Amino acid sequence: MAEHGTRMEEDRPALSHYVMPLTWPPRRRCASILRVTAFGPLLYNSVSHKVEPLPGGDVGLYVCGVTPYDTSHLGHAFTYVVFDVLVRYLRFLGRRVTYVQNVTDIDDDVLLRANKTGRDWKELGDEEYAGFRQQMSRLGNLDPDVAPRATDHMPEIQQIVERLIDKDVAYENKHSVYFDVKKDPKFGRLFNHSYDSMLQIANERGNFPADPLKRDPLDFVLWQGQKDGEPAWDSPWGPGRPGWHIECSAMAMKYLGETITIHGGGEDLVFPHHDAEIAQSENYTGVLFVHHWLHAAMVYCGEHKMSKSLGNMVFVRELIDDSSPDAVRLHLLSHHYREPWDQPLDAGVPTVELAAKLSRSLADAGDPSDAELERYRGAFLDAMANDLDTPAAIAEIERLSGSEEPAARRAAKALGQRVLGLTFAA
Ligand SMILES: [Zn+2]
Repeated sequence: MAEHGTRMEEDRPALSHYVMPLTWPPRRRCASILRVTAFGPLLYNSVSHKVEPLPGGDVGLYVCGVTPYDTSHLGHAFTYVVFDVLVRYLRFLGRRVTYVQNVTDIDDDVLLRANKTGRDWKELGDEEYAGFRQQMSRLGNLDPDVAPRATDHMPEIQQIVERLIDKDVAYENKHSVYFDVKKDPKFGRLFNHSYDSMLQIANERGNFPADPLKRDPLDFVLWQGQKDGEPAWDSPWGPGRPGWHIECSAMAMKYLGETITIHGGGEDLVFPHHDAEIAQSENYTGVLFVHHWLHAAMVYCGEHKMSKSLGNMVFVRELIDDSSPDAVRLHLLSHHYREPWDQPLDAGVPTVELAAKLSRSLADAGDPSDAELERYRGAFLDAMANDLDTPAAIAEIERLSGSEEPAARRAAKALGQRVLGLTFAA
């Protein structure tokens, strides 16, 4: 299982060192703003490098999903638990959220694994995706409202590619189509680094700079002509399949409109994936693609980012089996979403005792009244409004759970369940 971008095994420094120079946490700095926004969310925006209020109204959230070809590790779980908590939190505030999380069901990784194991690529993808969803739901994650598959969106993808060619920002060469990065002066504004840095990172993440069909080594593929033995779909440029970046542009805009409120994913998707999405979408529509970009930090295992080829993976399923869903969730959320962290092999989760303690205090607590919830939720919601400070939110749940006041414990349970997705099951 790879979230796109996690397939490449790069070592430290993480992208955070390139794209997120502002230090976390911004607690003190935001305290006065929090009062003004009355618990409204302030979130770090990767494109402005600032903590900013989220626009009002309904929220469209698109999170880049998995490429299903292998088992999920803790890095995947961290990303999807973070966005699950964001959805829960916004809904708790009364915001209407449409959560779209795609499935990259046709991709080099899926085809390679299918070839290697002698399996049908579609069967392999379906099976691994079902396993992923099962593990995410065991962990307490809500299902996305829409889980679109790339292979179901060929007309939408081709329509965008056609218009990009018409607008002369993309070109066809021998049945493949590429985005011409030199035609977009703003290309790479999310990553915000030099051409050489962009090329270096892109090459580490699946770019083929020596592709003779390209005009520029940094140009990226929108449609790739069929190779021997690969599945293909008809197109105006001949049989082939889409590039990865264009799939997300097509699915995001189809379900959430031309401008979406929040686009998220793992931090290793900033470049080239998300910059490519911006370039494609904005050249297609002429309007802003995303208000707020949110990226979850990488999980390391020792020196290196958790990855398949190094074998330094900690599997979600094993961690849950050895502890409990609440213990794993508390462990993940005890790290701020923008803070890279280490999960040593065989270390287990250090939150087993905390999960047991909260469960002892809260398992039998009933529902709070609206007045009780309002009375006790302030510090918790302050923490969440402060760029999703889940470590502080957990500390507040722990504090309330130890209260002599039954109403405080009732409030703690409701907040923990509804916003953090904990169960407090005995
Ligand atoms: Zn994506």
